[in-house]
Amino acid sequence: MRIAYLFLLCCLLSVQAFAQAAYRRVKARNGDGVETLLLRQGLSPGRYGAAFKQLNKKNLTRRHGLITGRTYLLPKRVATRKPPVLRTARRTSRPATAVPVVLSTKPISPAQLFGPRYAGTPAQSSSLRGAVYYLSSGHGGPDPGAIGKYGSYQLAEDEYAYDVTVRLARVLISHGALVYVMVQDPNDGIRDENVLPMDYDEVQYPQLRIPLSQVQRLRQRIAQVNKLHARHKGAYQRLLALHVDSRSEGQNIDVFFYHHASSATGLRLAKNIHRVFTSRYKRAQPNRPYSGNVSERGTLYEVRNSHAPAVFMELGNIRNQKDQRRFVVADNRQALANWICEGLIADYRGKQ
Ligand SMILES: [Zn+2]
Repeated sequence: MRIAYLFLLCCLLSVQAFAQAAYRRVKARNGDGVETLLLRQGLSPGRYGAAFKQLNKKNLTRRHGLITGRTYLLPKRVATRKPPVLRTARRTSRPATAVPVVLSTKPISPAQLFGPRYAGTPAQSSSLRGAVYYLSSGHGGPDPGAIGKYGSYQLAEDEYAYDVTVRLARVLISHGALVYVMVQDPNDGIRDENVLPMDYDEVQYPQLRIPLSQVQRLRQRIAQVNKLHARHKGAYQRLLALHVDSRSEGQNIDVFFYHHASSATGLRLAKNIHRVFTSRYKRAQPNRPYSGNVSERGTLYEVRNSHAPAVFMELGNIRNQKDQRRFVVADNRQALANWICEGLIADYRGKQ
């Protein structure tokens, strides 16, 4: 029985090897995409793109990209045929509107958000009872945000901002707060790994598809925040936007906070979080001065348009090597979440 099975397997393998031998092979150069590679070989991407992807399924990245140096099979050239005279089938592809925007009206459960390792949320105190938080981790869905090179890995801003954000959500809940996680990943959970693989399946609370356009994305996010804000009218409500990039590329930064110029409550919140960071940094690295600061950045869409007082935080720069070292350690991501929580507790305590 086993012999027969092995024999069959050998046959299959050799058939496959034979079939592959019939295709022309070509190595992907640095910077090649499916289109550029096909064009260089004189093949039309429109005509041969799908066949190429089918043939090389195993060697494509998640976004149908090529891997430099890897060998790819070229589809066989087919004789050009005249198109059939009756071509009314233009509309066979589904219009863009057919893609559902609302994937579900039910938000993802906290247990699912935190993942199996952190599913339970032990109560620590009730110091944030009555407070409502909107946590908005930067980018997500089709937009990974800034990308840093870490050895042979790519670190995406949205994954690291997200991990700190869900950790923060969990501590806030453990202190009795009501938390809305505005960007949600259905299957990542809180992750302890160093390298957090990039994916594109994050959704917008409650379960909306995240648009690629930044303007549309932020508009959608803030519309949700403001809708919820109306529902909790009268309550202490705050929005925190968390990012891991900075405008000045390559720069090693500490943590920066931005608030809206006309928002005294936003400024106070930023200062309260800043105070915790200053003292924690002093304790952790006594010889290195902490350089993060609080400043006004009214041009940030979320800060400007949120009905809840908002603070925008840059936790570091994913493209900077020193900052990367800080973010790839799960304990450091947890520390950032804990420090933000401490600042939020101080702000809530002094709210009157
Ligand atoms: Zn960002």
